[in-house]
Amino acid sequence: MSPRRQKAETGKRKTGIEKRRTGGFRSPVFHLLFSVFCLLVLCGSGLAQSAPARQGRARERIDLLVASGTVVTMDPQRRGLEDGAVAVRGDKIVAVGSRAELEVRYLPARRIEARGKLVLPGLINGHTHAPMTLLRGLADDLTLQEWLEKYIFPAEARNVTEDFVTWGTRLAALEMIHGGTTTYADMYYFEDAIARETKAAGLRGVLGETILDFPAPDNKTLAQALAYTENFLKHWKGDPMIRAAVAPHSAYTCSESTLKQAAALARRYGAPLLIHVSETKREVEEIRSKHGGSPPQYLEKIGFLGPDVLAAHCVWVDAADIALLAARQVGCVHNPSSNMMLASGVAPVVEMRAAGVRLGLGTDGPAGSNNDLDMMEEMDLAAKLQKVTRMDPRALGAQQALEMATIEGARALHLEAEIGSLEPGKKADLIIVGLSAPHAVPLYQVYSQIVYALKASDVETVVIGGRTVMENGRVLTLAEAEVIAKAREYGAKVQRSLAAPPK
Ligand SMILES: [Zn+2]
Repeated sequence: MSPRRQKAETGKRKTGIEKRRTGGFRSPVFHLLFSVFCLLVLCGSGLAQSAPARQGRARERIDLLVASGTVVTMDPQRRGLEDGAVAVRGDKIVAVGSRAELEVRYLPARRIEARGKLVLPGLINGHTHAPMTLLRGLADDLTLQEWLEKYIFPAEARNVTEDFVTWGTRLAALEMIHGGTTTYADMYYFEDAIARETKAAGLRGVLGETILDFPAPDNKTLAQALAYTENFLKHWKGDPMIRAAVAPHSAYTCSESTLKQAAALARRYGAPLLIHVSETKREVEEIRSKHGGSPPQYLEKIGFLGPDVLAAHCVWVDAADIALLAARQVGCVHNPSSNMMLASGVAPVVEMRAAGVRLGLGTDGPAGSNNDLDMMEEMDLAAKLQKVTRMDPRALGAQQALEMATIEGARALHLEAEIGSLEPGKKADLIIVGLSAPHAVPLYQVYSQIVYALKASDVETVVIGGRTVMENGRVLTLAEAEVIAKAREYGAKVQRSLAAPPK
């Protein structure tokens, strides 16, 4: 018996005793009616209060319930749930279902109301160079060679320090969180600082220290770069948010020996290998004449390819390359903005998907080859680029583009067991997207609206590993005004450095 029920029973008995003691004071009929009234009131209130108390005990405690939104799961059935809900405990999703069903099962410590909004898996940016946000727009509309030699290499040589990378990553993190990216893959220098800032911002990252055959801003020799990278891998081993990786830049900037040493180091630590592959026609011709095969064939020959490799671009890949990338379970990343801006070419996305290649989506850049970190835009362009080059509007649809930014992006990063869809057991990485802007109404088809109409600015709330990093447009993990002021300061500094004669 519940304490409240007991109180009601006691009250009932007391009422009876009082009736006897006060006998004759009022008529027996009045007494009877009064007693019945009291009994009903006491029992009724006791029962009414005991029902939720009983239900409360039966409900499982969770940390967060995201409720009432249209949940776009991207699960194997591609379920969409109207008036749905996602239950989160710790850093994981425990249930996805209808709001009514989950409200009965769970008692949340915190609730986020998403009525009239979309709830999606967090977007996955499969390829970028985050600190280059500070070089955004420095020089554009040039050939890759001119851009690199006249602007980027001198600007990097004179400005890229650990402090530059720290502020550049903070700026990138702000932009990515605002646009609904929850996981990103990166290749740059001082990657340990990038990892530190990524974790502080609450983002998930697959972060590769870049290794090249010429001096880099952080490491001047290959031996130094390998030693730095080994320490970096040791430092982040087992971290739930950061996957430290080894990133030999490409087959045209790294010798065979460098590529082999980088792969051996990564495999000693079970770390991913990030690399640029077959980005330009020129690269493919160069590798063919030097090594007698395409970049994927050459990388296969030296034992580099495998299910731990993430290959950015793969624009100039033929049927044999595609079959090889699929067979070796290499993750590939399509970067439509970058490929268009640098006039690199058009990746055979349709053929790669048909062959079962793990194919995600990335922004590249953000300087010179994009110039932003906007995955909403990247989905839109991925679909439209395939349509226009094939003269077929059915070539790549909205659902496929969204898959590349979510579950297929997770497959490319070999993280599909953890992220990429809203399913029980996966990490609680989700975004809430508003549907009240002029460009967001009316709504007929959800996938189509997301890919062709919605903008990064429609993302309102971002949860990564169960932690709310943005709520109603306000990023909770970074001092936004300070980061933007610092970015302007760095802009002026970089400009002055290029005006001055080289040291
Ligand atoms: Zn790149």
